[in-house]
Amino acid sequence: MVDESGKTLESQGSMEFPQWFEGSEYMHRVACAIAKYGPIARTTLAQLLGLSQGALSRITSDLIYAGVIEELPGDSVSRGPLPQGFTPKESSDRRGRPQTALALCSNARTFIGIKAHGTSAIAAVVNAHGEVVSGRHESAFPDRSPESVTQVLAGLVRECVDDVTAAGLPSPTAVGMAIGGHVADDRVVTFAPFLRWDHDVPLASMVERATGLPCGVYNDIDSLLVDASWFGPGVGLEAFAVLTIGVGIGYSLAMHGRPVSCPDKSYGLLGHVLVDPEGPRCTAGHIGCAQCLTDDSLADQYSQMMGRACTFDDFARDARAGVPQASRLLDRTCFRLGSLIATIANIAMPSKVMIAGESAFLARMAIDPIRDGINRYRHSQASPVEFTVVDHDWQLWAKAAASRVIVRYLD
Ligand SMILES: [Zn+2]
Repeated sequence: MVDESGKTLESQGSMEFPQWFEGSEYMHRVACAIAKYGPIARTTLAQLLGLSQGALSRITSDLIYAGVIEELPGDSVSRGPLPQGFTPKESSDRRGRPQTALALCSNARTFIGIKAHGTSAIAAVVNAHGEVVSGRHESAFPDRSPESVTQVLAGLVRECVDDVTAAGLPSPTAVGMAIGGHVADDRVVTFAPFLRWDHDVPLASMVERATGLPCGVYNDIDSLLVDASWFGPGVGLEAFAVLTIGVGIGYSLAMHGRPVSCPDKSYGLLGHVLVDPEGPRCTAGHIGCAQCLTDDSLADQYSQMMGRACTFDDFARDARAGVPQASRLLDRTCFRLGSLIATIANIAMPSKVMIAGESAFLARMAIDPIRDGINRYRHSQASPVEFTVVDHDWQLWAKAAASRVIVRYLD
């Protein structure tokens, strides 16, 4: 029945997704470059986009008039990150009039981001530059039916709208939703194991109807990837990968700031890749696959070492306290994580790998074993694999969902 009504709802058509401004392809490219690399000096931006100063000036005047960007006075130096391999040339009129830097009008728009789990959702409001401008909002689902989930999401949206109103910020432009699973056309959830949805759910249409705001629905790992590529450690990189560890293993790859798209993505394909031929056996029967990095497997492995039933939290607590068995398992786990990072680096060749997820804190506790695991599978003359560990916070996942709609609004 849900399926039937869902199909009708989707075929009734979705709300039109708004754009910040109407303009040429170059106008959009300039706005996107300022969003990623701003505040940025005019001369640097012109070099970056291969535009003459005159052409750039005409475009930036239009963007300033439209309220998308602003000029920050008295600064000839770019303060944002710059693309990999790009070195700005010295400006010839450096000693002339002081240059201005261009920046996005961050607080001119707001967006709501929501991350849905199996039993609850967390929401946050961000500005146009992907910075959180609200409090934390979290609600539990009374049950997992799409209708109940949508009602809870609509309640979170109301709380977020109240926050921005109280802060005197513009009311939200759109809602970005992130879920663990597979989404078709950024609108219909086709696979959501944590929500136990086994049929197509037109979640974007349902949220739009319940909130009156345009909505996009996205895979959660892809959302982290896009957020980092626009507003985080992945800005300007040619290739950038995200690896998440926690309840499951997640992976996604971006080329030039865009997720590599493939219809078979978001089914957790990296989760059973071999990381240690002497590792434990997973539920699918593989020996030493990447499942040994998940919370459940770590609880099992630790229980075996201790000779009694232990939870993942027991392991994490003992590892922090320096209990020898826990330290041994921590080192072994991080070495295996390093092997997985090396596999990603050797095959997909990203410039950087971001480690995120609920258990990413384990990676911070044993960096040397990660490097050893990476080096075990790298050529001695290959460049070192850059990786960065992000502290886990579900609000970051909510913010990342909002970044997806920002990119759509701007691009
Ligand atoms: Zn496996």
